[in-house]
Amino acid sequence: MPTTSPDPAPAVPRVVIAGAGIAALEAALALRARLDDRHLRITLLAPNERFRYPPLSVLEPFGGERSWSLPLTAFADDVGVELHHGVLHEVDVAGRTLRTSEGERLDYDALLIATGARADRSLDGAVPFRGAHDADRIADLLDDLAEAGGGRLAFVAPGEVSWSLPIYELALLAATHLRERGIPAEVAVVTHEVDPLAVFGTEAQAVARARLDAHGVALHAGALVAGLDDAGRIELDDGRVLAADHVVAMPTLRPRAIGGLRTDDRGFLPIDDHARVPGAPGVYAAGDATDEPIKQGGLACQQADAAADAILADLGHLLRPAPYRPVLRGILLSDDEPAYLRSTLVPHGGGPPVARQTPVAPRAWPRGKVVGRHLSPYLAGREDGPRTPTGAVRVGVRPR
Ligand SMILES: Cc1cc2nc3c(=O)[nH]c(=O)nc-3n(C[C@H](O)[C@H](O)[C@H](O)COP(=O)(O)OP(=O)(O)OC[C@H]3O[C@@H](n4cnc5c(N)ncnc54)[C@H](O)[C@@H]3O)c2cc1C
Repeated sequence: MPTTSPDPAPAVPRVVIAGAGIAALEAALALRARLDDRHLRITLLAPNERFRYPPLSVLEPFGGERSWSLPLTAFADDVGVELHHGVLHEVDVAGRTLRTSEGERLDYDALLIATGARADRSLDGAVPFRGAHDADRIADLLDDLAEAGGGRLAFVAPGEVSWSLPIYELALLAATHLRERGIPAEVAVVTHEVDPLAVFGTEAQAVARARLDAHGVALHAGALVAGLDDAGRIELDDGRVLAADHVVAMPTLRPRAIGGLRTDDRGFLPIDDHARVPGAPGVYAAGDATDEPIKQGGLACQQADAAADAILADLGHLLRPAPYRPVLRGILLSDDEPAYLRSTLVPHGGGPPVARQTPVAPRAWPRGKVVGRHLSPYLAGREDGPRTPTGAVRVGVRPR
């Protein structure tokens, strides 16, 4: 009788996730929630050693704790993923292979691009606020105001900024900080939005206006900033000039170049409702690297969830992958009670987002400032995890 050798065990499919930020971790957790490492190999390819959590960095200039971060090795142990140190350089879609900037090649069955975006200065002469590493500069600026015996301070969300919430938090916290130190100052928000926090709908706009008013913060809405003049004043594109001694500006987010993939005309990756990159079978994208008009952590997580579902479906493990249906959630922190904001946006690709707001009770809020179905409970479950204030923020002075 002829002998037959047993079929070799099928190879475990490999998902490579490029990036180790918010979308990448959410996707890894979503994939692991469905398949263990005997059925799916997950590799995080990224240059960073730690996962950083940006949203609480707005508290740092005012004495808040140093921004929270987690060694990726701890995440890898918890979740059962491999870490590969490197930078995605180019994708060979047909060969299901990628090349890193270090010249290595990695094969994949599915590739999720979650490489975020570059935060570039948006306004020459202004202090940028891109997160924790700019906290000292804001604290210095507040000290300069104190030394000068007061002055005018403007916080700017330029035209290309889609997630403006941090600028409102900084303005409100700065106004409280200066008042409590007895420093006479005029604080203003200058934003391209027609109404403050317009993406959240009319109720949120009313909340934002009321808080700005109560803190004596002037609002210049619908203001497109053209630049700063030689005296540091803000020039608007309608010819108006706003006086300011110090200007803080949100950065402009620029795409990171990755070879082998088609992008939109700005360089961001287009995706469909399942976070698949059109024309690139086996490639998915989530987060700030995509052409999603609002670059925000919660939306990045929702895209990551859609991508995880689509990956599992395409690998034959899931019948009906859930599409990306964006819901925007944000917490506005200040020395008042936090404002919990939520709106449903029109589906991706349907033109400018339209907010359909939903009132939220704090009790019903998923834990954490960045809301991810898997990331929020994972971070909240860590003893050393980031803690979003649930009450009024105590505004102090940054220790240095
Ligand atoms: C001050 C501030 C406050 C914010 N507040 C909030 C908030 O309250 N709520 C909210 O939801 N969002 C908030 N955001 C926005 C949120 O942080 C981002 O939208 C979110 O981090 C985007 O996630 P991402 O995974 O796309 O990118 P990131 O989190 O930036 O991660 C990108 C990852 O890709 C890696 N990488 C880069 N290039 C490559 C490459 N070529 N190959 C491999 N890896 C690469 C990076 O090292 C990093 O690990 C805030 C942002 C800032 C700056």
